[in-house]
Amino acid sequence: MKRDGLENVHLEPVKVPHWVRGRESLEIVGPIPQPLVMLGLGNSVGTPVEGVEGDLLVVRSFEQLESVRDRVKGKIVLFNVTFTTYGETVRFRAEGPSRAGALGAVAMLVRSVGPAGLRTPHTGALVYTDGQPKIPAASVTVEDAARLQRMSDRGTAVRLRLKMEAQFLADADSAYIVGEIRGRERPDEVVVIGGHFDSWDVGTGSTDDGGGCIATWEAVRLMKKLNLRPRRTVRVVLWTNEENGGRGGQAYRDRHLGELANHVMMLESDSGVFRPTGFGFSGTESARAKVRDIASLLAGIHAATIGANGGGADIGPSVQQAGIPAMSLEVDGDYFLIHHTPADTVDKIDPLDVARSSAAVAVMAYVIADMPERLK
Ligand SMILES: [Zn+2]
Repeated sequence: MKRDGLENVHLEPVKVPHWVRGRESLEIVGPIPQPLVMLGLGNSVGTPVEGVEGDLLVVRSFEQLESVRDRVKGKIVLFNVTFTTYGETVRFRAEGPSRAGALGAVAMLVRSVGPAGLRTPHTGALVYTDGQPKIPAASVTVEDAARLQRMSDRGTAVRLRLKMEAQFLADADSAYIVGEIRGRERPDEVVVIGGHFDSWDVGTGSTDDGGGCIATWEAVRLMKKLNLRPRRTVRVVLWTNEENGGRGGQAYRDRHLGELANHVMMLESDSGVFRPTGFGFSGTESARAKVRDIASLLAGIHAATIGANGGGADIGPSVQQAGIPAMSLEVDGDYFLIHHTPADTVDKIDPLDVARSSAAVAVMAYVIADMPERLK
């Protein structure tokens, strides 16, 4: 950022949860022994060295789990839930471990939260409920979930063994990264754009969310390169700890509390960098009309659509605190096939998509920062 000529480039430190995966495995012990593809869920506890063993119990919903609650004790519960939307399906990953643990399960498995890949497991964070037993939890692939379901439907008694070394260490030092173009007339009024540079350990984090970082950083670099200095400040923030704690976004809110009233708009790019289609927007109707006008500038690259809701996990705490207009870059691509998997690598990203996404963000951020009247 300094080499690009951005201003006020600095780190803002924050302590983050330090979860370590360690080695892990899942196997069918019987009737026919075979290893399964798996990924431990982020923030899971580990197992004893010898692992935990149990008979498989497959359910397709929380309601079905309740209906067999007397049979859960000592079992390894698999939530085999078909992916619909991320928001709808992710709760089985997040809440499943405590729901199963509360009924005496010794471990929980979840069908990967994503469309079918090529036996690709997806990690992601779980959230233990206070006061419930914490049991180890992992994801299996769509294919293996279907197979375990078939075995179960046939009445085959399947025995599984899960081994995980997962553990928490003491909170670690991290930071989110800030760079700016200072506004020429109202530098105290700020437009924030960014992505999160933390990612799950199993891939390289190119799509979730390296692309979002690059697209938004590049948007500011483009303004610099074109010698455009908007009326207000444009600030790029590369967030940290989006995946297993959200501490970056929380720390920004707390550190900038006195300044949030001067945040004109916040934008997050965390849906991958594929062909941009436009933006999601949350805010007043008058602001929406203005944003729609600005987006019409992007019709030439077919990125002029303004969706019903905008926002992001990292900007969320600030947006909610101060009622700031919120946007997200919307794209057309296979984000949920890739994210949180070992397949999240840079070969999935098309440079032309990155260029178009940067252009879209640059136009939107620049015009909002440069308009004579404040967006509201
Ligand atoms: Zn993300």
